[in-house]
Amino acid sequence: MRVTILGSGSEGNALFFESGTTSVLVDAGLSHRELVQRFAAVGRETPNDVSALIVTHSHGDHAAHASVCATRLRCPVHASEETMPSLRLRRSVRTEPFSAGRQFRIGEITIHSVRLPHDAPQVALVFETKETAIGLVTDLGHVPRGLPRFLGECETLLLESNHDSDMLASGPYPTVLKRRVGGSLGHLSNAQAGDLLAYLPQVPKRVVLMHLSQTNNAPQLAKSSAEAALGHGRTQLLVAHQRQPLSLGAIRDTQLRLAL
Ligand SMILES: [Zn+2]
Ligand SMILES: [Zn+2]
Repeated sequence: MRVTILGSGSEGNALFFESGTTSVLVDAGLSHRELVQRFAAVGRETPNDVSALIVTHSHGDHAAHASVCATRLRCPVHASEETMPSLRLRRSVRTEPFSAGRQFRIGEITIHSVRLPHDAPQVALVFETKETAIGLVTDLGHVPRGLPRFLGECETLLLESNHDSDMLASGPYPTVLKRRVGGSLGHLSNAQAGDLLAYLPQVPKRVVLMHLSQTNNAPQLAKSSAEAALGHGRTQLLVAHQRQPLSLGAIRDTQLRLAL
């Protein structure tokens, strides 16, 4: 399974998962025009026919362009039953609601979901094929019980590491926003992301830190926190960017590169 992170952060999120003939866009927080530019930046044509668009939750940085993207990519929209009504999709867009906590299938990919604590209904997703499993966990205020076990089989984990708590506390955000971001229904701090990594039953081969705040975090701080939690050098650790897309190949390619 190949993943391209087209953008990650509060200005807009979109990821593209591919396995064989199945392709899934996850989140539509970037306009179709921006998607075209991001695909071009990794040397690819924008697909005009994808299997599905999955929207994790209704916040604008994940859902603002769902209607247009689903129309342009000629695909149905999958979202949880709680999220779907808030997406305000055009009538012409086909909708496929799923129950959070249940699994469903899109072509070659089986998708597992579980609810996350956030200030809108939100889900963590695991994308599973015959070869691998990739977890996507962003927009959560704390790590709920059962999440480490849900992610236990993931070879690759795309995990929110939104803010450094000290930078948030001393930073420029108004108090209300500081409370929202740092609260139990807000976003995951570097330390909380580290705690989750430390509690995983099986260490992933690759971790990508996601949804970093451009105001209240620094990539090096997020990385150091994750490195300390992982405790050894065998996991490949990457940081996703807001504007610079990141292409992740099959995990065995990574292992090969590390071995060389
Ligand atoms: Zn978000
Ligand atoms: Zn959100």
